[in-house]
Amino acid sequence: MSTQSSTTAIRFPCAGCAGPMVFDAESQNLKCQYCSAEQTIENMMEQPQEHPFSCSDEDMTELQDWGTEQQAIHCETCGGETLIPASQTTSLCVFCGSPKVLPQDDVRSIRPESIIPFQVSRDKALSSFAAWKKKRWFLPNSFKKQNVSSQLNSIYIPYWTYDTETYSVYSAEVGIYHYRTVTRTRVVNGKTETYTAQERYTVWHSTQGDYDRSFDDILIPASGHYDSGLLHKLGDFNLSELHMYKPEYLSGYISERYSVSREQGWDNAQEVADDQLKTDIKRIIGGDEIRNLRIRTTFDDITYKHLLLPVWNANYTYKSKAYYYMVNGQTGTVSGHVPRSAIKITLFTLLCLGIVGAIVVLVMMNQQPQV
Ligand SMILES: [Zn+2]
Ligand SMILES: [Zn+2]
Repeated sequence: MSTQSSTTAIRFPCAGCAGPMVFDAESQNLKCQYCSAEQTIENMMEQPQEHPFSCSDEDMTELQDWGTEQQAIHCETCGGETLIPASQTTSLCVFCGSPKVLPQDDVRSIRPESIIPFQVSRDKALSSFAAWKKKRWFLPNSFKKQNVSSQLNSIYIPYWTYDTETYSVYSAEVGIYHYRTVTRTRVVNGKTETYTAQERYTVWHSTQGDYDRSFDDILIPASGHYDSGLLHKLGDFNLSELHMYKPEYLSGYISERYSVSREQGWDNAQEVADDQLKTDIKRIIGGDEIRNLRIRTTFDDITYKHLLLPVWNANYTYKSKAYYYMVNGQTGTVSGHVPRSAIKITLFTLLCLGIVGAIVVLVMMNQQPQV
């Protein structure tokens, strides 16, 4: 981990030796970094609270209380924004490894409502990567042996989830396919002849209606660093294992500061809901084709919560080129890039060409006229 304790007061001191205690993924407890003593975290598995989307400034101030002092860090190289407990320092950017990291003054961010604590330890993340790496094709031999462990960082990635009740009115034209038998002519061997065929035509009629539905936990990534495509490759997080946020879970860990605001997140959630509503309404309308579909939706009872989900992030350099990989901190699913050996790819291509060539020769030989 690129964090270490500094002179700032220790937030969770060890009862035995007063050393700093950090969250331990193996035991799910706080663990002393000096004497390895453990302390259980009161497990709060109750349902996380959803907050109304519109709220007063006072409520907002209350929502910004993380229960521990957080320091915002900005990376000059990649623009990454992270939050670390104030009792820790960081010298390298967790995203890109750059040393150009600067503390920021403004740390007002909404605290997470719930969190999936790390369940995959550093060792497990490394062995997941090693197993995944083995299954990649065309790895250079020297890379297979290389240990890329040193730049592995644990980071909590920010998400929003939104709930809402929707009411939609829609209108559209729906087309139903019909078939009729038609008589056509064609020319065969210089002679014109008639024949019958089935011809499709579409009958259109207009339709309208209304549709109610409720949405629960529309998950919207709030990361400024990882795009949703990349996060998607990490596999699904099991949101039924959400814990209520406690500052203990962040002890020793860095979290990314959300770059997508609560309001932007809601805009994105509306798009997700709109797409889903369109699919639902098309299914209700039925028919073979739909055109001029118009949907007007009102969103009510909007609530949201802020989540932190665990990811191991690694940047490494191989032959002066940068690569990265990530490991889902809950499930161990790996996603990333590995170097490829140009020689192995060339040899494989030649081998494939050789096999194709051999097949072509065999086929041609079989097609020789029999004597
Ligand atoms: Zn201790
Ligand atoms: Zn960076």
